[in-house]
Amino acid sequence: MAKQTELAELGEFGLISHLTKSFKNKKKSTVYGIGDDCAVCAKNAKTHTVITTDLLLEGIHFDLTFTPLKHLGYKAVTVNLSDIYAMNAIPEQITVSIGVSAKFSVEALEQLYEGIALACSQYSVDLIGGDTSASITGLTISITAVGTVATQTITYRNTAQCNDLICVTGDLGAAYTGLQIMQREKAVFQQSKGVQPKLEGYEYVIQRYLKPEARKDIIEQLAKHNIVPTAMIDISDGLSSELFHLCSQSKLGCKIFEEKVPINQDTAQAVQEFDIEPIIPALNGGEDYELLFTVPLHLHENITNISDVHIIGTMVDASQSLHMISRSGSPVTLKAQGWNAFD
Ligand code: ADP
Ligand code: MG
Repeated sequence: MAKQTELAELGEFGLISHLTKSFKNKKKSTVYGIGDDCAVCAKNAKTHTVITTDLLLEGIHFDLTFTPLKHLGYKAVTVNLSDIYAMNAIPEQITVSIGVSAKFSVEALEQLYEGIALACSQYSVDLIGGDTSASITGLTISITAVGTVATQTITYRNTAQCNDLICVTGDLGAAYTGLQIMQREKAVFQQSKGVQPKLEGYEYVIQRYLKPEARKDIIEQLAKHNIVPTAMIDISDGLSSELFHLCSQSKLGCKIFEEKVPINQDTAQAVQEFDIEPIIPALNGGEDYELLFTVPLHLHENITNISDVHIIGTMVDASQSLHMISRSGSPVTLKAQGWNAFD
C-alpha cells in the first residue's frame, strides 16, 4: 500500500495548500482565490464581490454545556462577517447550513435562529438560503457570507509596505481567557455536582468568548476618514499567527512592542489565575475577531482620530524576523503558534 501521511505532518495550512495546489483559476471573473480572508470575484467595473465560508462542529468549535444556542447562532454569523470586514468590504447576504441530530428540539433550533436573526439585523445582512440535514454527530453549522467592496479600496493581506504602522483594534486575549474560565468551571461542576459555577467578575472575558462582534464600526470609521489600509486581516487565531500571514504574504518582517499590545484589565487579571502572562493569550489565543491592519507612516495623525485603534509597531524588511520588543527592552522572536486543527 502507498505511504499514508498523517494529517498532523502537514498541519492545517499545509494540508490546504497540498490539496489545492493543482487548481488554477481559469475564469476571468475570479479576481483572487485561496489565501486571503475572502475569495474575490469581479462584479462590475467598480465593484468586487467577496465570499467567505466557515464550518463549526459541536465538540470541536463549541461546547453546548456552556454555550447557549442563541449565542452560538449570533457568533456563527459574526465570525464570518469578520472575514468580510477584513477585506474592507460590507457584508450583504449569508447562507446557513445545519446538520442536526435528534437530541435537538424545534424550540432549541429556534433559539439558534434567534441568534442568527439578531446578528442579521445588527449587521444588516439578509439570510438568503442554506441547507438542512440529519446528523449523527451533534450539531454542525456552516455559514457562507457574501459582501461587496469598491475595487479601489479592497484590502488584501499581501500588500503591506515596509515602514507601515501596524494597527490593532479593540483588545486581545479576552475570548481565550473566557474559554479557559468556562472550561474550568465546567470541570468543577462535573466533579462536584450541584456546585454552581463562579462566573462573577469574569463577565467581560466570557462575553468576548460567547458573543464576539465583528468590527463593522472600524470599517465605517476608516471610510469616513478616507483611510484605506495597505493590508488587513482579522485576528481569529492570535496576533502572532495573523502577523505571520501578513508578513509572509507581504514578504516583510515586523517589529511590535509588548507594551503597546492592547489587553483589557479584566483579561489580565483573569488570565493570571492560570499562571499565564497576559501577553501569551494576546499573541497565541484565538477568537478575538479584531482587525489587524497596516497604514503608511504619514497617516499616523489620522489613525489616532479613530477610537479603539492601537498602533503596536511597524513593518520592517524581510531580513528582520517577526519580533516583539518586550517590556524589558529585549527582542523576542514571534512564532505563529496559532490554532492547529490536527494537533
Ligand atoms: P480564515 O481563518 O480567514 O477563515 P482559513 O485559515 O480558514 O481562513 O483558510 C485560509 C484559506 O484557505 C482561505 O482562502 C480559505 O478559503 C482556503 N481554504 C480553507 N479550507 C479549504 C479547502 N478545504 N479547500 C479549498 N480552500 C480552502
Ligand atoms: Mg480571517
